[in-house]
Amino acid sequence: MIDVKTAQELVLLHSSITVKTLEVGLNNALDYVLAKDVISKIDMPPFRQSAMDGYALNVGNDTTYNVIGEVKAGDNNNLQLSAGEAVRIFTGAPVPDTANTVIMQEKVFVDGNQITIDAKVNTNINIRPKGEQIQVNDIALAKGTTIKGAHIGFLASLGVTTITAYEKPSIAIVVTGNELVAPGNVLSFGEIYESNGAMLTAVLKELGYIKILMVAVKDDYDSTKKILKETIEHHDVVIVTGGVSVGDYDFVGKALNEIAVEEVFYKVKQKPGKPLFFGKKGQTSIFGLPGNPAAALSCFYIYVYPLLKKSEGATTTQLQRILIPMVSDYIVKGDRAQFLKAKIQKDGVKILEGQSSAMVRAFGEANALVFIPENNAQIKKGQMVKTILLPNK
Ligand code: AMP
Ligand code: MG
Repeated sequence: MIDVKTAQELVLLHSSITVKTLEVGLNNALDYVLAKDVISKIDMPPFRQSAMDGYALNVGNDTTYNVIGEVKAGDNNNLQLSAGEAVRIFTGAPVPDTANTVIMQEKVFVDGNQITIDAKVNTNINIRPKGEQIQVNDIALAKGTTIKGAHIGFLASLGVTTITAYEKPSIAIVVTGNELVAPGNVLSFGEIYESNGAMLTAVLKELGYIKILMVAVKDDYDSTKKILKETIEHHDVVIVTGGVSVGDYDFVGKALNEIAVEEVFYKVKQKPGKPLFFGKKGQTSIFGLPGNPAAALSCFYIYVYPLLKKSEGATTTQLQRILIPMVSDYIVKGDRAQFLKAKIQKDGVKILEGQSSAMVRAFGEANALVFIPENNAQIKKGQMVKTILLPNK
């Protein structure tokens, strides 16, 4: 059985970046990965801009200034100021070329068309220089960046209307199990509601993926094989849940083998998610996740997420990890590496109740997974632990 680190490396080693790119309108660009640098076509700000409501001055020797006009945001009157003259100005307005400082209105005594300042004024105060944030032809955003809301704001401020992005992978989720019933139906004895499909679909959507198919299949060799063959043929990534263990009715392994999926690994020395399968067929990556919902979701974040990120050309493929102190002792069961559902609080990280693979409840509360390496019997309060931050939490 391989260890977590080896498994993670193998996943990335065997995933390939899509070469397909597309033009996306900025309004739809959220969560796409840039396939090309975005170059700014303008200076930002495009002109010397007032950072305050106040007065733009052509600094003179006296403390009293004559106010000769007004510039508000959007105006394009480039008023001529001689030394000792001022204009009323507002935040965002273009500072006249002949003004060399802006003084905030709170620091000024107004008397008709005259203002008086009691302190000495420095030049170049409260003026945002042209191109202070970015200059024309500079790289605004680098290839490999995953576009988030703030990026869209920044690109919009530069007048960008479209970006070149990598195509997002198409993903099929195949849930297996005779016992599974779609919510909305009445449960007969022995049945449970199918939840992995809904959960993984939602988590994928949260991450910005759009091409998602969900299919349910019974524990039957022929239908498992047929569905797997079809989904592998038509998708970049296939995520199977359940049926990968060694039970008499776990047909996934056998079916994958039969349709010539190359096994990269099967079984990882970890908890949850020991019976994790990863394989390849052509350009398609195939994951066999455990059926237990919490185990499936852990494996998703730790193995599937990095592959999806890499396949769409993202520079950052792993979830962010930090070292953080434990808020209490924790006894580790077994010698496998563990991923524990946890919550980061002010004073450190707390391991949540309900770590069973079958129980997904704690995942709702969790904002992190604490990673405990192999052969750690006990973790002490205050001990620093590697903690993986869950996205969108
Ligand atoms: P398996 O890996 O198929 O042996 O399933 C392990 C456990 O997870 C069993 O208790 C299954 O009933 C449960 N399970 C499998 N698939 C799902 C699913 N899609 N939704 C909810 N529970 C599931
Ligand atoms: Mg099953």
